[in-house]
Amino acid sequence: MRMKSLLLAGAIGLLAQSAWADTPEVHALRMVWKPLSSNGEVTAIEVQQQVDGVAANDGKPFSLTAPVTYVNVTGVADRITRLDVRDASGPISFTTEDDKPVPGGFPYYRHWRATRAVSYPVTISYTALVQPAGSPGGPAFGIRPSGGGVSGSAAGFLLLPENAGTTQSNVSWDLSNMPAGSVGVTTFGDGAFEVKGAANRVNQSWIMAGPAQQYAAKGASHFHAYWLGTPSFDAEAAMQWTAKAYTVLSTALPHIDPAPDYRVFMRALDTPPYGGGTALGNSFMLSMSKSAPKDPQDLRITFFHEMTHQWSGGIDGGTRINDSAWFHEGLTVYFTTMLPLEGGLYTLDEYAALLNRQAADYYTSPARDWSAARIVEVGFGDERIRHTPYLRGFLYFADLDARIRKASKGKRTLRSVLHPLLVARQKGERFDYAVWKDMLRKELGEEAVAEFQTILVDGAKVVVPPSEAFGPCFVRQAVELKADSGPVQGYQWGRKKGVADAKCRKW
Ligand SMILES: [Zn+2]
Repeated sequence: MRMKSLLLAGAIGLLAQSAWADTPEVHALRMVWKPLSSNGEVTAIEVQQQVDGVAANDGKPFSLTAPVTYVNVTGVADRITRLDVRDASGPISFTTEDDKPVPGGFPYYRHWRATRAVSYPVTISYTALVQPAGSPGGPAFGIRPSGGGVSGSAAGFLLLPENAGTTQSNVSWDLSNMPAGSVGVTTFGDGAFEVKGAANRVNQSWIMAGPAQQYAAKGASHFHAYWLGTPSFDAEAAMQWTAKAYTVLSTALPHIDPAPDYRVFMRALDTPPYGGGTALGNSFMLSMSKSAPKDPQDLRITFFHEMTHQWSGGIDGGTRINDSAWFHEGLTVYFTTMLPLEGGLYTLDEYAALLNRQAADYYTSPARDWSAARIVEVGFGDERIRHTPYLRGFLYFADLDARIRKASKGKRTLRSVLHPLLVARQKGERFDYAVWKDMLRKELGEEAVAEFQTILVDGAKVVVPPSEAFGPCFVRQAVELKADSGPVQGYQWGRKKGVADAKCRKW
């Protein structure tokens, strides 16, 4: 999955502490994060902050904020303990107020409002406790101990000033309570880092501190991986494969130029909630049980999927949150199926198995003919229904690729048509449904625009890609599949006899 609203614009450079030289326009939030350990297990992160803010121009009191709930991680604000805030006049006291709860586990916040005017600098210290074992499941945003260190997301433990007008945040680690050789790493880089903009931009980051194991790709690759605890699989071998996947993605999808910095975080946990794979900008986290066995091919698909989000990105203009999953998830599933084949990372059998499993899941889904809006209503309540736009989008993009090739007599493909749109998006130009429909109209005519609406938005028609959609080595076969409601008409792609393997990967 991917947290669309949390995407970063791009990689942000590191700045050593010695380079902190404020100009008059800079209002910095400086932070030190210190993981605290007891008997070899991290229990909390102690945070020291100094706010060189400006008087709030909204006339409201100085205010701090932390999530009450953050993407199904409950109690973040409640775990902020030993809060001490002061300025030149001494301690500052606060009243607290919670936003109205947002259903479905989506974020909402607590606000600490100062009971008097403050003068800068304001210093803040608190201890953020780790998320307890047995908390509700969901993406790995809560901070949790494993392997003698701690990991999660910045949003899972930070209390931040919200109206002090800070223009950058400078973060460094204090690892004095961690084992020798420990590292502090985030989405923003290894060790100390700087993030331009409002304080809450720091929240868009995975964090990991402690005796993490590491993998760095050889040569000029910008791929790095870190993990805490011992997963049930060979993590080093898995990261070698994922480094190759990074090269395949940055070669096949050159709209991000130069190829981005990318960091993979993994944590193997002793206790639930175990989490799963979730991508933020320039990074993903895979959180799991240290003992549950993992199917190697399922793992590879997860690694490729989460990393692909960096390249597939999103589209603007859906009418409500997540109803454009057909694009950001559908395109991600499409690339995750096709590019490892082309890059030599799946066998032909693995490719066929993945393609056919996804097709079968779509044709047998109870939501195959539901509108995008109706699917969003179900949210995290039913995983089969939630994933239907992923699969519908995948088959739609395969169908679209075949039709673009046919209409252009092999001159253009889905990827070659997408490329200039994604380059423009990369430059900050708006990429929305209108841009998408213009492309369809130009390539395939008005009928394709109507079909996009019917299949992906209204769900009124089931998508059936043509026989050749998955390459010259596979042919479509109509089959009867078993859905919960009874037998349904579906399609599978079988190996065509007499075509050499060498022709199957690229066409
Ligand atoms: Zn995803």
